[in-house]
Amino acid sequence: MTVRLSEKLEFIYQDILKRNPGEQEFHQAVREVLETIGPVLVKYPELAEQKIIERICEPERQIIFRVPWMDDKGEIHINRAFRVQFNSALGPYKGGMRFHPSVYLGIIKFLGFEQIFKNALTGMPIGGGKGGSDFDPKGRSDAEIMRFCQSLMTELYRHLGEYTDVPAGDIGVGGREVGYLFGQYKRLTNRYESGILTGKGIHYGGSRARTEATGYGAVFFAEEMLKVRQDSLEGKIGLVSGSGNVAIYAIEKCQQLGAKVVACSDSSGVIYDEQGIDLALLKEIKEVRRERLSAYAQARPQARFTKEGNIWQVPCDFALPCATQNELNGKDAQTLVNNGCKLISEGANMPCTPEAIRIFLEAKVAYGPGKAANAGGVATSALEMQQNASRDSWSFNHTEQRLHEIMRNIHKDCYETAAEFGDPGNYVVGANICGFLKVSRAMLSMGLI
Ligand code: GLU
Repeated sequence: MTVRLSEKLEFIYQDILKRNPGEQEFHQAVREVLETIGPVLVKYPELAEQKIIERICEPERQIIFRVPWMDDKGEIHINRAFRVQFNSALGPYKGGMRFHPSVYLGIIKFLGFEQIFKNALTGMPIGGGKGGSDFDPKGRSDAEIMRFCQSLMTELYRHLGEYTDVPAGDIGVGGREVGYLFGQYKRLTNRYESGILTGKGIHYGGSRARTEATGYGAVFFAEEMLKVRQDSLEGKIGLVSGSGNVAIYAIEKCQQLGAKVVACSDSSGVIYDEQGIDLALLKEIKEVRRERLSAYAQARPQARFTKEGNIWQVPCDFALPCATQNELNGKDAQTLVNNGCKLISEGANMPCTPEAIRIFLEAKVAYGPGKAANAGGVATSALEMQQNASRDSWSFNHTEQRLHEIMRNIHKDCYETAAEFGDPGNYVVGANICGFLKVSRAMLSMGLI
């Protein structure tokens, strides 16, 4: 049940399949963009003549390297790490590092590809890139995490720079890891270059509100989608999958705006708490104790923990997928629609499968794709770069206001672009076309690059 592509786009897609074998997630991300940009090529034929799509789909540079490290028992481990520097038409490569056993080149390329358009949508001067490793941080001590980060940076440092490539966090990489990475960069180069990494601690050059930004941003985007429908989050019941940084701060912002989030999850299972998630407890378990979610139910007897449960079966008014790619399939989407869910805003990258997206769009659910809805994280990273460049440090309120303004603008751009290209209310079309045009125009101006 896929959308047919024009002959030209199908040809490009087939070539991408051939040139990037086995990289399923990358194929999925590319196809989603190709399915929506047909009308752009009709309006601007020079983009096809100049082979902008073919150029955008080929990373500018891909780095793959070995990361050897020693565990606490003295055993040696070898991991593989990646940095895909995808597109620098709008600024230095920007995008997080992901540490997860599922990481391989196809995952990093899908993330890097999406990052190009996401970063363009923020309106900030940042290109698109992504990196990561198949390292599994689960159960590792602080000392092991530190040794791994130091070994990874011992290779990565030569590829970074304030004007070249600026990594940050993603799944498995938070403040602790960014700290270890920054410390090693500083030792290797003998330079205090704040601008080479974002997501730093606020006591050494990080930005206030960066930790909160992705989750807050996804909720601000949801609020904007509801506003055009003369509705709001006040009094609504929501689900937030995941329980990492994005999920925690999405729940926080939902609560501040008067909604009740009744469920969240991790890879071990789902928590259902009819009275609303106890945020202080969730933070304590996940941020301080770094424990599994089952500990939540132990501390709060009215909450129910379902091992390996499916969060999307819980009835709700809105859902924020904030865990990982392809976590919500067609069947889940149908269940959500049948249960009356009216809004999806993606805190994670590509959490809904293509079939799920089709079901949401057909049912006229307000569907905010990750490229737009979760851009608040990287946008605030760009604000961190701005503070670092001017050796300044802004207040939480000021930074949050800037984030809010950026999310409102992204929503407006996507909404208006969808209408302009004949598909009002379709934020997939709006986000893809708007992001694509911003990058394409810059590339066209720079000649054959
Ligand atoms: N990993 C985040 C994302 O998917 C943030 C990237 C950044 O801050 O550079 O956008």
